[in-house]
Amino acid sequence: SSGHILLRDPRHNKGLAFTERERDAHYLNGLLPPTISSQELQEKKVMHNLRQYEVPLQRYIAMIDLQERNERLFYKLLIDHVEELLPIVYTPTVGEACQKFGSIFRRPQGLYISLKDKGHVLEVLRNWPERNIEVIVVTDGERILGLGDLGCQGMGIPVGKLSLYTALGGVRPSVCLPITIDVGTNNEKLLNDEFYIGLKQNRARGEEYDELLDEFMKAVKLNYGEKILIQFEDFANHNAFSLLNRYRTTHLVFNDDIQGTASVVLSGLLSALKLIGGTLFDHTFLFLGAGEAGTGIAELIALQISKTGASIEEVRKKIWLVDSKGLVVSSRKESLQHFKLPWAHEHEEISNLLDAVKEIKPSVLIGTSGVGRQFTQEVIEAMSSINEKPLIMALSNPTSQAECTAEEAYTWSKGRAIFASGSPFGPVTYEDKVFVPGQANNAYIFPGFGLGLIMCGATRLHDDLLLVASEGLASQVTEEEYAKGIIFPPFSCIRKISAHIAASVADKAYELGLASLQPRPNDLVKFAESCMYSPVYPIYR
Ligand code: NAP
Ligand code: MN
Repeated sequence: SSGHILLRDPRHNKGLAFTERERDAHYLNGLLPPTISSQELQEKKVMHNLRQYEVPLQRYIAMIDLQERNERLFYKLLIDHVEELLPIVYTPTVGEACQKFGSIFRRPQGLYISLKDKGHVLEVLRNWPERNIEVIVVTDGERILGLGDLGCQGMGIPVGKLSLYTALGGVRPSVCLPITIDVGTNNEKLLNDEFYIGLKQNRARGEEYDELLDEFMKAVKLNYGEKILIQFEDFANHNAFSLLNRYRTTHLVFNDDIQGTASVVLSGLLSALKLIGGTLFDHTFLFLGAGEAGTGIAELIALQISKTGASIEEVRKKIWLVDSKGLVVSSRKESLQHFKLPWAHEHEEISNLLDAVKEIKPSVLIGTSGVGRQFTQEVIEAMSSINEKPLIMALSNPTSQAECTAEEAYTWSKGRAIFASGSPFGPVTYEDKVFVPGQANNAYIFPGFGLGLIMCGATRLHDDLLLVASEGLASQVTEEEYAKGIIFPPFSCIRKISAHIAASVADKAYELGLASLQPRPNDLVKFAESCMYSPVYPIYR
């Protein structure tokens, strides 16, 4: 009967919250026990059950089960308990879920497109039940978080990111489509695992790879139109840079690992200036790690400074990068990947970080190498002897890979460092003073950023949109928070923050002629809020 179908439809199911009238009208009588509960009571019960699980992965599985049973309740939980549940549905727990993906999943989520679908990608897209899609998050699974190549099991990432699009950015779940492109894996462990769910072959490269991605990009535009937002996620850096380059002029594409990271870190820098003083142009930046995150951040800092009138070439000279072979310098040009070339300045070669710090004398030190424990006591002490208030960002994830801990940064700098990290660290007490480290979490930016693009019907991305998103986030930090040394606002206000970021992004898109929704709404913050998905149950007639 239709009542039975309704209870098994996660988008419409309300479980015990169906009212008597709804039970009468929709053939639900007898299919539920007599009690009628409120959504708040259901929420309380599920949170209670969830907290009984001590293992994070069990909480993750319980959340996925809820998402597949009662979507609105899932989002209500995630929105109301964002600080508690973010580490469950996203990093770090989602990483473990991807590693064990084959064995924990009962029902598939998202859409799989593999090499076997070559020539038929459009047909595969059309098997997805929703016709109206506004945002796709896609991965090929080659660089999942800091965990490397997980092949087809990377699906947890687009699924998790899109849950955040809805919970934090208010994008309706029905318009979100998670996709994994399976071109094989080079992960030997998975290839030898009889339960592995993906293609058992090594990764396709070169033409074979490019052709499948090209067919995919064409099919997506054909099926969903010019305004479809495609977010690339956790691609290895050679493909990440080239995909962004190839499609930026023909599609609305965004790479969170490069651009989203850059925007959130720039926002942290803008906030930190209130604590360390000066303008960005007064500072010297040194990065450990010159990949997607490092060069993406460097590029956006340079762009932001260049807006004050300086030439981009001049600005770049204040930004230095160290990769696995040492300081990126001009004498290495022959062997450098193209995305490092803008940073290959004239200087003698330096092979290690400590010497680079002593030589370059940076005021800002940013870790994006993926290798932990590189900001040693000597490095932090060197930073502290050069600067009154050194700014230290240890961005590598997960926690075990952080360049240093919050405690180390505060202790070794004798309480003078301003510190932020990629993975969360709790407050630290040093000589009776409490220091609250910031978390440069991409989830601050991409949900509001995406909402802004979608709500104004943007057709292409522009780097200036990233700059206004950074400023939008920084503007949400209050004076009281600055007084405590906090450079990122609390996640509990994320929906309000997202609405502000969305409004800034849309405003800029209109200014640049990239927005297709006409006429332009007058109050963009109000408009953003009015577009946002609500997890509160509707009443069914
Ligand atoms: P990636 O593209 O692979 O880049 C890694 C870079 O680090 C490369 O330039 C590599 O050098 C360099 N490197 C590796 N080992 C090194 C060593 N021992 N010493 C110096 N440099 C070394 O990776 P990614 O996407 O940029 O991510 C890097 C890290 O940033 C990850 O841990 C990720 O979790 C983190 N991240 C954090 C955030 C955030 O906090 N919001 C956002 C994004 C990424 P070569 O070029 O010579 O190989
Ligand atoms: Mn990512």
